Amino acid sequence: MLPHGSIQEAEAALGRSSLTFAETVWFNYSATKSEYFLYCHTTIFVFFIFTLAPLPLVLLELSPSAGFGRYKIQPRVHLSFSEMFRCYRDVTWIFFFLVGPLQLLSYPTVKMVGIRTGLPLPSGWEIFLQLFVYFMIEDYTHYWFHRFLHCKWGYEKIHHVHHEYTAPIGFAALYAHWAEVLILGIPSFLGPVIVPGHMITLWLWFVLRQIEAIDVHSGYDLPWSPTKYIPFYGGADHHDYHHYVGGQSHNNFASVFTYCDFLYGTDKGYRHYKKLLAKDEGGTIKENAVTSG
Ligand SMILES: [Zn+2]
Ligand SMILES: [Zn+2]
Repeated sequence: MLPHGSIQEAEAALGRSSLTFAETVWFNYSATKSEYFLYCHTTIFVFFIFTLAPLPLVLLELSPSAGFGRYKIQPRVHLSFSEMFRCYRDVTWIFFFLVGPLQLLSYPTVKMVGIRTGLPLPSGWEIFLQLFVYFMIEDYTHYWFHRFLHCKWGYEKIHHVHHEYTAPIGFAALYAHWAEVLILGIPSFLGPVIVPGHMITLWLWFVLRQIEAIDVHSGYDLPWSPTKYIPFYGGADHHDYHHYVGGQSHNNFASVFTYCDFLYGTDKGYRHYKKLLAKDEGGTIKENAVTSG
């Protein structure tokens, strides 16, 4: 709920002769809506992204004749429509009974740290910098939490569920034990808690993080992906190897970037594997070998 009764009042409060186009749109949409209602949008956006973003990948998987097979990271693994739908259905349960309620119940924290909904809107530069910080905080924290989940206890009790997909698919991004959803939800909330911004930035953060998680679980390394231009971005190939090696994996723990695995030496097996693949003209390694993690 904005404290201004009209656009003219908002302009006067900001000391401006006019609002920007984006601010006018925001005013018209949010002026009479409660902050809690606006925050609930996060859950809806994430659910739509989780449902819609993997659909092109489902089509690629079901259309082997379309010529995208050469971009598939584990080309010998093919999932049927029903197998992919089962994954979607299972994650939908997790979403409605855990992710959604968790997001809705976290509103007091959002309020406490000062996520704002009013005017002025943040500049594009402010949004970019905050999102960058959120990704860095998430990536670093996720690295260590994920690494912890690969200890014997963490893997056997919790993390093995996420690793059921040794060749991941987009829908498997959120496929995990409920305890893992809680544990790895912390890194996602940490950035906005440490560096609170505008509600729009928060929406963008959860949407982009969800798209990124689907991308790294896509199973396809598409050469024209715009993420190829992001420095140190791990992408599907990086995380796919983590699933490929499976429970014994002590490689590629990071969620977004590659620098943590490089710094802490947890990408040695992956780099060795890439070297072998580069020399393996017959493609026998992908078929036969699972290198040591
Ligand atoms: Zn793992
Ligand atoms: Zn994964």
